Amino acid sequence: MKKKRRSRLKRLLGTPRRFIWNVFRPHFVRANLAKRSGACHRCGACCQLVWKCHYFTYVNGIPSCKIYHRFRPRNCSNFPIDHHDLKDRNAIRPDLPCGFSWDKAKQGPCSTDDTVKGNS
Ligand code: SF4
Repeated sequence: MKKKRRSRLKRLLGTPRRFIWNVFRPHFVRANLAKRSGACHRCGACCQLVWKCHYFTYVNGIPSCKIYHRFRPRNCSNFPIDHHDLKDRNAIRPDLPCGFSWDKAKQGPCSTDDTVKGNS
């Protein structure tokens, strides 16, 4: 129970972390996104990291965003920024990996951590 609460708190802290990076470190974010490979397969896990987003919905059984074509905050459009985001995301859907990943060799100096693991 305590572990579950800690994991939720960690995911909660990911929101301001991503916000700060998107606003104050856009170069870092762009560099990391450039090294990212894959594509979103719309699992919807990142829309439910701490709680289900108010704009999250299902359209014909497919996870969707109610405001996708009007306005998407950078926290959403740039997710995942690094392997920490993938780790948080994998706590929600460990059965289905995110469509994005980083090649360990490409992570380079923009990584916030020297160890890149479990980012599939
Ligand atoms: S967790 Fe990854 S694959 Fe799933 S919706 Fe978010 S970005 Fe797309």
